[in-house]
Amino acid sequence: AREFKLVANNLFTKRVNFYSTDGGGSRLEGKVALITGGASGLGKATAYEFIQSGAQVIIADIDSQLGIQVAHDLGHAAHFVHCDVAVETQVEKVVEITMARHGKLNILYNNAGINGPSIPPSITDLDLDEFDRVMRINVRGIIAGIKHAARVMVPIGSGSILCTSSVSGLMGGLGPHPYSISKFTIPGIVKSVASELFQNGVRINCISPGPIATPLSVTQLAKFYPGATEEQVVDIVNGLAELKGTKCEEVDVAKAALYLASDEAKCITGHNLVVDGGFTSFKNFKF
Ligand code: NAD
Repeated sequence: AREFKLVANNLFTKRVNFYSTDGGGSRLEGKVALITGGASGLGKATAYEFIQSGAQVIIADIDSQLGIQVAHDLGHAAHFVHCDVAVETQVEKVVEITMARHGKLNILYNNAGINGPSIPPSITDLDLDEFDRVMRINVRGIIAGIKHAARVMVPIGSGSILCTSSVSGLMGGLGPHPYSISKFTIPGIVKSVASELFQNGVRINCISPGPIATPLSVTQLAKFYPGATEEQVVDIVNGLAELKGTKCEEVDVAKAALYLASDEAKCITGHNLVVDGGFTSFKNFKF
C-alpha cells in the first residue's frame, strides 16, 4: 500500500508540474503554429495569443498587404506567407515553407473563411456556383490543411489541428445557406478524422464562435442594414452578441484556441468547442 502511495504521489507531482510549468506565458514555448486567415479578426488575435505564449507563428492569408503588415506588427516571432486555402498546391507549399524555415509544424489553425453570397433568403434561389466557391474555401481548404499538416505531424507522432466552425454551423437561420452548410460540415470533418489522427498522436478540434465584430461579420451584417455606417453595423454585431448572453471578443476565441493547441488539452480530440457567451443556448433568437 505504501509503495502504491509513493507511486501515486509521484505521478501526482508530475501531473501538477505538467500543468503549472507554463506560468501563463510559455504554454506554447518552442512550438510552431500555422494560422490560415491570420491577417485579420480571429486569426490575428490568435496569432498574437500564440506568440505571447511562446510560439513562432506563420500567418497564411490571401491578403498579402494586410498579412505583411500584421506579421510586422507582431514582431520577429511572426512570418507571413501568401496562401489561398482554396488551392491545394498553395496549402502544401505553405506547409513546406514552414518546415523549411522552422523544421517542424506543431499546430495548424484552419481558420480562413468567407461569407459567400449576401442575403439569399431562400434555398430556391441558391446559386450553386456560389455554393461551390464557399465550400472550396470553408470546407475544401480545411481538408487540404488537415491533409498536408497530418503528413508532417503523423511521422513525428504529435500535433494539434484546429478549425473554425461557427454558431451558424449549430443552428439554421444564422447566415446564408452556403456559409451555414459549410460551417455545419466542419465538426463532421473533425469527427471523421479524429480517431485516425489520435492513433498517430495528432489531435484535431474545432471552435464555434458566436458573433464577433470582424471584417467578415460586419460586411455580412451590413447587407442586412443598407444605409448603416460601419460603426452602426459594428454596434449591431456587438448588440447581437450582448442580446443573448455575454459579449465575446476575438481574444475569447484566441484563448480557446490556445487551450486546445496546448498540451493541457492532450486528451481532447474530435471536439467542437462553442465560444458564444450563451448565444445558442437561448430560444427565440432572431436577426
Ligand atoms: P476576417 O474577415 O477578419 O478574417 C478572415 C481572414 O481570412 C482574412 O484575413 C481573409 O483575407 C482570409 N481569407 C479569406 N479567404 C481566404 C483564402 N481563400 N485563403 C486564405 N485566407 C483567406 O473574419 P473572422 O471573423 O476573423 O473569420 C475567421 C473565421 O471565423 C472564419 O472561418 C469565419 O467563418 C469564422 N467565424 C467568424 C465569426 C464572427 O462573428 N466574426 C463567427 C463565427 C465564425
